Amino acid sequence: MSFQSLALSEPILRVLAEQGYVSPTPVQQQSIPQILSGKDVLAGAQTGTGKTAAFTLPLLQQLLNAPKVLNKAQVRVLVLTPTRELAQQVFESVQTYSRHLPVTSAVFYGGVSIRPQYDAAEQGLDILVATPGRLIDHLHQETVDLSQLEVLVLDEADRMLDMGFIVDIKRIMAKLPVKRQTLLFSATYSKDIKQLADALLNQPVLIEV
Ligand code: AMP
Repeated sequence: MSFQSLALSEPILRVLAEQGYVSPTPVQQQSIPQILSGKDVLAGAQTGTGKTAAFTLPLLQQLLNAPKVLNKAQVRVLVLTPTRELAQQVFESVQTYSRHLPVTSAVFYGGVSIRPQYDAAEQGLDILVATPGRLIDHLHQETVDLSQLEVLVLDEADRMLDMGFIVDIKRIMAKLPVKRQTLLFSATYSKDIKQLADALLNQPVLIEV
């Protein structure tokens, strides 16, 4: 299978060629068409399998297919990660894959000044990568508006639960539209992950690699 057969546009295919990616990894082959078709996805994938591109590439394509003028502080795609390091890493991937596209993105995590984050959110964001705690600070300040969110991604959801983020995740969920696409990536399947998936996903496609 090739990236060309996955209905991705030229500016995305160009980055993949520049990155030296020859063909999609198994999680990418399975996830990309499902995400493009708007389905919810529950994917079991470890770090190193290409899971970041598996959700980022089709989401960039969706943003490209349906450009929107953003309201103040509006976010279209939210990626939640358990740690700052992962947030930064995912953000760098988003920036790389979107470098030929008119897509705006930012990363918000704690332990750094919040003011530059207010400024970054001001004009609205196509993609926001965030850790739960700092995102909740923004929700309290009303500096991020999730009421028009189109897609939620939970990356390394098992680690988020291990780190005790369930209450934060629930608080964030309460701010999201019910009608949205949700993607949950987890390296392991526990009873807790299954419960979370049941609560958040709507008839998800299961992907195991
Ligand atoms: P991840 O699992 O998202 O952390 O990605 C692991 C590594 O694989 C990253 O360094 C990516 O740049 C790389 N990668 C992702 N997709 C591909 C691909 N289709 N071909 C080659 N390398 C890739």
